[in-house]
Amino acid sequence: MFRDLWNRIKSRLQRKAVILMYHQVCEKKADPWQLAVTPENFQYQLNHLKNHFDVVSVDELVATLKTGRLNGNLAAITFDDGFIDNYTNAAPLLEWFELPATFYLTSGAIRSPKLFWWDELQSIILLTETLPRKLAIKIGTDDFVFEFKRDEVLRPNLSQEILSWSYGLPVKNERIDLYFKLWQRIQPLQHLDQYTIMRTLRRWSKLEYIPMGINAPMQPYQVKKLSDNKLFTLGGHTVNHAMLSAQTELVQSYEIKDCKIDIEEISGKSVKGFAYPYGKYNHATKSLLEQNGYNYGLTTEQGPVTVNSDIYELPRVQIKNWNEKEFAFQLTQVINN
Ligand SMILES: [Zn+2]
Repeated sequence: MFRDLWNRIKSRLQRKAVILMYHQVCEKKADPWQLAVTPENFQYQLNHLKNHFDVVSVDELVATLKTGRLNGNLAAITFDDGFIDNYTNAAPLLEWFELPATFYLTSGAIRSPKLFWWDELQSIILLTETLPRKLAIKIGTDDFVFEFKRDEVLRPNLSQEILSWSYGLPVKNERIDLYFKLWQRIQPLQHLDQYTIMRTLRRWSKLEYIPMGINAPMQPYQVKKLSDNKLFTLGGHTVNHAMLSAQTELVQSYEIKDCKIDIEEISGKSVKGFAYPYGKYNHATKSLLEQNGYNYGLTTEQGPVTVNSDIYELPRVQIKNWNEKEFAFQLTQVINN
């Protein structure tokens, strides 16, 4: 009991820093994973950071952790995936506030632009007016079968229900049910299998063409421009947004190594940071990062970092579409608990 109390006191006294995790800064129609922050709220959040934190790059934060001493209220801003709005919406605001940020890029998406599978899945399952009643598809080694009983047509109130749903809320309709089941099954697969399934789903839904719009990845020239800016740093996020823990070591090695080569080729600068897609990794992943010259690895685990954090397992704080007050409250919660 005393030990518990002592640990609690120690944890309160220990200095903590936060690494903020963003994905997109834009308005999104459906956002089941709450990954998008509106430009307006992003601006409020940056304003709060500017006034209450010492915002540094992740490189600098990691270097500070290595000294064994954390001073001040350190915070670092990160973006995963490499969406185009990072360049068009986030970067200009970061520049205006003169705040550094690191962008972890899925290099394959930048080299050959296409939608990420989860955004495509969202368009097909959640936003298509009418879907065929029955879906029978092979996913990995499983035969997946789903039959709509009532929600194959997107009635206005169903549409509303879908747009306001996010992960964690109860699943009240078949569209969300189907979306989530497919999402779970597609996520661990290899890139080529994901691609094949998405093609099958596109044909099944009769959606020939899905515009990329705001979900497009950045283009190489935009990546280069970001990297030329002193405020910004680029990091790796695999070639194909692979769930590394579900892949063989050979695939992991390719995803980790080639992503670094790709980004270094585009930017002309060396890449030292890495963020695990879906926050998933295993022991082999961590060694591969070290072997390939990455200095640290970021997870999606929620929490602050301290000098005792493993630098290949640094937790972050997922930032949602909060206004300044809510943002301030959430950061305080993370730091004080
Ligand atoms: Zn990601």
